[in-house]
Amino acid sequence: MYSNDSVIGTPFCNKSQNGNGTPNAFFAFGNPNPVLQMQGIVKEFAGTRALDEVDFDVRPGEVHALIGENGAGKSTLMNVLAGRFDDYTGLITFDGRQVRITSPRQARNMGIAVIYQELSVLPNFTVAENIMLGDEKAQRWTRKLDRASINAGARKIIEYLRFDLDPDEPVGQLSKARQCLVEIAGALRRNIRLLVFDEPTASLGSEDIDKLFGVIKDLRDRGLAMVYISHRLAELPIIADRVTVLRDGRMVGTKAITDCRISELTRMMLGHDLAEAFPQKTNRPGKVILKAEGLTRPGVFENISFELREGEILGIAGLVGSGRSEIVRAIFGADDARGTVEFRGRPIVGRSPSLCRALGIGMVPENRKREGNITGRTMAENLNISILDRLAGRLGFQSPRNLAAHATRMIKQMKIDPPRPQMDIQDLSGGNQQKVIVGRWLAAESKVIIFDEPTQGIDVGTKSQMYRLIIDLARRGRAIILISSELIEIAKLADRILVIRDGRLVREMQGRQTDEDALFAECGRKDKSE
Ligand code: ADP
Ligand code: MG
Repeated sequence: MYSNDSVIGTPFCNKSQNGNGTPNAFFAFGNPNPVLQMQGIVKEFAGTRALDEVDFDVRPGEVHALIGENGAGKSTLMNVLAGRFDDYTGLITFDGRQVRITSPRQARNMGIAVIYQELSVLPNFTVAENIMLGDEKAQRWTRKLDRASINAGARKIIEYLRFDLDPDEPVGQLSKARQCLVEIAGALRRNIRLLVFDEPTASLGSEDIDKLFGVIKDLRDRGLAMVYISHRLAELPIIADRVTVLRDGRMVGTKAITDCRISELTRMMLGHDLAEAFPQKTNRPGKVILKAEGLTRPGVFENISFELREGEILGIAGLVGSGRSEIVRAIFGADDARGTVEFRGRPIVGRSPSLCRALGIGMVPENRKREGNITGRTMAENLNISILDRLAGRLGFQSPRNLAAHATRMIKQMKIDPPRPQMDIQDLSGGNQQKVIVGRWLAAESKVIIFDEPTQGIDVGTKSQMYRLIIDLARRGRAIILISSELIEIAKLADRILVIRDGRLVREMQGRQTDEDALFAECGRKDKSE
């Protein structure tokens, strides 16, 4: 059995507290020996190999990214670490000792914490209560929770981590990103040696991602070992030191992030060139339909001006946090901004999402769970929302038969599989949910459609269908704005590309003249003055 004695912990476990109460560093910084070493890990589910001889290690003061397509085995590998299985084979060495991890409690006691995408904070409890949950000292004497000592303990951690959190605030009222901070603080209160993030940014906005990255970098500087699971390649150079690629349960390779190109990582992840997934482009840009001028939101983006043509695919490229999503949200009227947006030569006065919808501007948002589909409704209901909107004023009534026929038509056109209109929207795969949202804007006959990360979290097959659909929309004269962290999608699909750096439009490029590596260099380049 693993013993805690040799572990040098965080400043908040008793052992590492030095005499005068000032926190020490996490532990021996600069120590080249891995905190964790996994060798030849095999895990099967009912005969199928989810992990096939995987090797993986993490050093102190390192963010080791673990990447791969959906189903590659990333979560399973981390679940082995978290003690979720007792039937894996292979060797695990942790802090220099060979261990078998067979229960979540054992993993916790060893100092392994996993932050899942679905956070495990308790919404009805305060920040302090969530952080200190399960702390014995706080309840030792009275058997009741001692509020003063809980708040004092939590405050100390929050201050040490420099998190912007109020100990008394109920967690349910916080944004997703701040709930994530609460969970991190709760993990770091314990005796932590290794922190794992399982796709933490999948449901965060770009400002929140920025904040989270700041926190991760800070923890790295303090010597903590971290694993960062993602399938967004473009964020890796910002956050990772090394990267390991998994494909179909096998390890493809481990590399220093400075040694690899995005195109190479994509190839390692997919096993082939993604270029094959892109259909031939046959659209031809026509006359200007949308014109943005001097769009500014202080501190977020500044003086953004561009034109968009009918039948054009305009890509917006930038690193996570550069302000891409915020710019399109401002165009769509979801956020306020100074400056003007003209639609067919006339300024849109008092921009709002409903006005934009009425004019024929649609948006497929980045966060489809929160902003896209109406949960608790069926696929058919979600597909019909926009025609109800459009026809309500004229007719006031749509026969159920017409609606059913319309839904069936859209399901066919969007190739939604299984084609079951009565299915609850929550039960659909990510790819199908995305198709329902796109289908809605098609039904609404939108002239301009903004796609923000349209292929995030969907499988390769559906991605390829989505590319086809976008090109087809443009070919039929719709104007498209496309944001994607998969820079190859921008390079392959866009006719013209706006490069955004730190909220500024720094370059315009022709789509055909660039590739993902060049685009990435452009997005991440520092100005000479900096
Ligand atoms: P990733 O996190 O890389 O998307 P996972 O580790 O979740 O992938 O899944 C790897 C493979 O293992 C998939 O084929 C998945 O269906 C399978 N798998 C994962 N967890 C279970 C489970 N509890 N029972 C059965 N199969 C599972
Ligand atoms: Mg996973």
